[in-house]
Amino acid sequence: MEQTEKRIGILTSGGDAPGMNAAIRAVTRSALSKQIKVLGIRHGFTGLLARDTVSLDLRSVSDILHRGGTVLYTSRCPAFYQETGIREGARACRELKLNGLVVIGGDGSFRGAQALSHQGIPCIGIPGTIDNDVACSEYTIGFDTAVNTVIQLVDRLRDTSQSHDRCSVVEVMGRHCGDIALQAGVACGAVAILVPEVPCSIEMIVEKMQRTLRTGKRHFIILVSEGVAKSEGFGSVPELAVQIQARTGVETRATVLGYVQRGGTPTARERVLASEMGVRAVALLAQTNPRSRIVAVQHGRIVDLDLDEALTMSRPFNKTLYDIADEISI
Ligand code: ADP
Repeated sequence: MEQTEKRIGILTSGGDAPGMNAAIRAVTRSALSKQIKVLGIRHGFTGLLARDTVSLDLRSVSDILHRGGTVLYTSRCPAFYQETGIREGARACRELKLNGLVVIGGDGSFRGAQALSHQGIPCIGIPGTIDNDVACSEYTIGFDTAVNTVIQLVDRLRDTSQSHDRCSVVEVMGRHCGDIALQAGVACGAVAILVPEVPCSIEMIVEKMQRTLRTGKRHFIILVSEGVAKSEGFGSVPELAVQIQARTGVETRATVLGYVQRGGTPTARERVLASEMGVRAVALLAQTNPRSRIVAVQHGRIVDLDLDEALTMSRPFNKTLYDIADEISI
């Protein structure tokens, strides 16, 4: 018998990000307004394989707009790296009678969505990751909140660094993408910003600090993307702090911000972006023969792109902003 009623699934996958709930709410409410039923899949692809689902109605997504994390829970699902896992995922989608699936996550989650799409399941990706590392989109849901969290925390460190004439070396998230360090570094006046996209040496940092010391500056903020201290051969961030102190004579302390960057109330920008993206995702799945797409921001506007094509794209690092930071942090 032909299925007349339309039904879509929604899941969050990979690292959680503030604003994911706003996207879940937008998808749910927009779909229901079009008489499309919505099945929430808990714990990402793991939950899809386990058929761990919850039917979402208008009120199931009440009071989540302002909450960080994801009410659908998230996970990393190793089974999805195997062909058998993908086939089982597609089988689950058919069993659950889904006409399409909304996947909120990062590049990894979109690879999972792409694999499902090649098994005949239309998938729409919504970029949700604090790292801003989805190549086809200028912004991802969660990034703005994370940057603002880092700024608040670094401002606090600045108070104490200034009072003691110290240098604070701060590790922030962004293992493969330096956007958090870059944006927060500009906003916090960091004297040096260490990101995976730009090579850096201890000599460069020390030279910059000595130049600014000669102008009377006595306290410093240095932001380091997670993993860069190691990849640049400094060891850990605390080890980098020891080297800076030894070479400059400025008392230097290391702070690793860690998981506090993931949580918190999503900013206005995040909530608006998530709402717009969620509604676009549903519009795409509401089409007669929906295709797999990624919803993205390009030139400040919401667009949608072919999923396969979007995953081949690359986005250049904002070297102009990096150079601006270097020029004015003196
Ligand atoms: P993010 O989506 O935030 O980038 P991950 O890279 O951890 O997070 O990916 C989340 C999940 O997406 C993985 O645990 C896995 O289940 C699925 N996934 C990632 N890469 C692939 C891939 N190449 N093929 C299929 N599934 C993948």
